[in-house]
Amino acid sequence: MGKIISISNQKGGVGKTTSSVNLSAGLAYLGNKVLLVDIDPQGNATSGVGINKADVSNCIYNVLVEDLPAEDVCIPTNVNNLDIIPATIQLSGAEIELVPTISREIRLKKSLENLKELYDYIIIDCPPSLGLLTINALTSSDSVLIPVQCEYYALEGLSQLLNTIRLVQKHLNKQLMIEGVLLTMLDARTNLGLQVIEEVKKYFQDKVYKSIIPRNIRLGEAPSHGQSIITYDPKSRGAEVYLELAKEVMANGERVR
Ligand code: ADP
Ligand code: MG
Repeated sequence: MGKIISISNQKGGVGKTTSSVNLSAGLAYLGNKVLLVDIDPQGNATSGVGINKADVSNCIYNVLVEDLPAEDVCIPTNVNNLDIIPATIQLSGAEIELVPTISREIRLKKSLENLKELYDYIIIDCPPSLGLLTINALTSSDSVLIPVQCEYYALEGLSQLLNTIRLVQKHLNKQLMIEGVLLTMLDARTNLGLQVIEEVKKYFQDKVYKSIIPRNIRLGEAPSHGQSIITYDPKSRGAEVYLELAKEVMANGERVR
């Protein structure tokens, strides 16, 4: 049975999509069968693995709102061993359209049930909000990976995310665990970055990954070529660190399952 991991933080621009794409690619590179699920209407994870959104006829919207089987929407990406359920801008209506529907919080969970058998990991790239789409992701997941950007106010807003996680644990998904906290976009030349690392470690302790993602030009460039860092520049520091992270996630596997 595959493990489902949501990548979530309601702050925008903290590295959720970059981490979803590159952790997925890293896990796939290491021989796992991986499914990336894009549930952000912006669809950045979708284009980030080489899918042209204009060519996508059915996306996660049709699964969540119209009950299309998720299996019918999975497509291969330009990374070996990595498939994706894409998102297009159509998904932007889902947050509101789902409100009056039956079992609106567990729709994604139900849709992914059959797919869990087919993949070793299912990684969900969440939107920058704590609305119904994120609730669906957390309800479906075994664990949540929280990217935190190494900048001033890094911890701000995390109490709301943790509170949402607790509510989901209480009412919808008792099993949900915190997979880990990932520090992103570190500029190691500044004291600020190092202070943020200290602060986040004080708060989350051994939940913080040893792999810390540096600010890396190649990581920023890869999406505009529709590629993960592992395919775009496998020798870059960004690729090395995301592979290290993938190994940490695999090693964590049994402990947090
Ligand atoms: P989110 O999904 O949380 O909104 P993204 O992953 O899209 O965040 O990252 C925001 C922007 O920062 C994107 O343009 C992305 O390419 C860039 N970026 C993310 N991580 C890095 C990094 N480690 N180094 C350089 N640029 C990065
Ligand atoms: Mg994103």
